[in-house]
Amino acid sequence: MSASILSAPHFHNEEAAYEFVEKRIWPNGPVCVHCGCYERIGKMGGKSTRIGTYKCYDCRKPFTVKVGTIFEGSHIPLRLWLQGIFLIASSKKGISSNQLHRTLGITLKSAWFMSHRVREAMRSGDFTPFGSGGGIVEVDETFIGHDKSIKPKGVKKGRGFHHKNKVLALVDRATGQARSMVVDDVKAATLAPLIRENVAREARLMTDDASYYTKLGREFASHGYTKHMQGEYVSKIDRQIHTNTIEGFFSVFKRGMKGVYQHCGHHHLNRYLAEFDFRYNNRIALGCDDTERADRLLKGVVGRRLTYQTTSPRGAVAQA
Ligand SMILES: [Zn+2]
Repeated sequence: MSASILSAPHFHNEEAAYEFVEKRIWPNGPVCVHCGCYERIGKMGGKSTRIGTYKCYDCRKPFTVKVGTIFEGSHIPLRLWLQGIFLIASSKKGISSNQLHRTLGITLKSAWFMSHRVREAMRSGDFTPFGSGGGIVEVDETFIGHDKSIKPKGVKKGRGFHHKNKVLALVDRATGQARSMVVDDVKAATLAPLIRENVAREARLMTDDASYYTKLGREFASHGYTKHMQGEYVSKIDRQIHTNTIEGFFSVFKRGMKGVYQHCGHHHLNRYLAEFDFRYNNRIALGCDDTERADRLLKGVVGRRLTYQTTSPRGAVAQA
């Protein structure tokens, strides 16, 4: 029997936790966060010094690896952050703040704060268009939860999708990467610029037969679509024409949002999408296991600092 992943020292020992993070953020040794110097840096010792404190002898200022990351200003021990990151990275449908609160033994407020910061670290900075080199790109949209900022129209309250949050997603079939975003509506005028920005002209576009894709489809190398309204999910003419890869992505996202997060406010939805995109794009089918996924997540903690205000909205606890 192999040892439990959770028994690794960096999950239990604060010094080991710092060393673990330092090795990933400073692969070539400590760098002064104040002046960028890396030559004249010393590790501070002594009983009164906080763990992981370095001093730069160029600018004479102290710093730790937490400065400029999502960990900055947090009182949660680094080893618990690493536990949280591992749990979030390895839970396919996500993990609620309530669960993190109980499992890590931190307050619900801290757990909420932690999970939103970790989501921020999962945000991809990659805007490379999908389908570069003529690959297939699936595009589809889905409706989820309730956008409370939209007032119901007339007597049709609760029916249709008008009042729901709308999500647009793209999958590059060659690389297996997904990119999703919240959209205000599913009109051609809204979707077209987003698709143009995220899909290469030489790509082969795959959608359903929704009218808003018809005109836009002509801007790409080819446009295949299935007749969803007639119950066709894979084209009878060409088996490559379908959006089933994206349906798979939406299915995990929806099960997570319903079962784990019990929906969330419109203003937070993009953060949850970043979380589901991240796990999907770093999944085992692409050779990325739980440990590697947590490692990649950790590389995203730099430069993603949020203030407390942006992560604790009204009713935060109820939504957690
Ligand atoms: Zn310095």
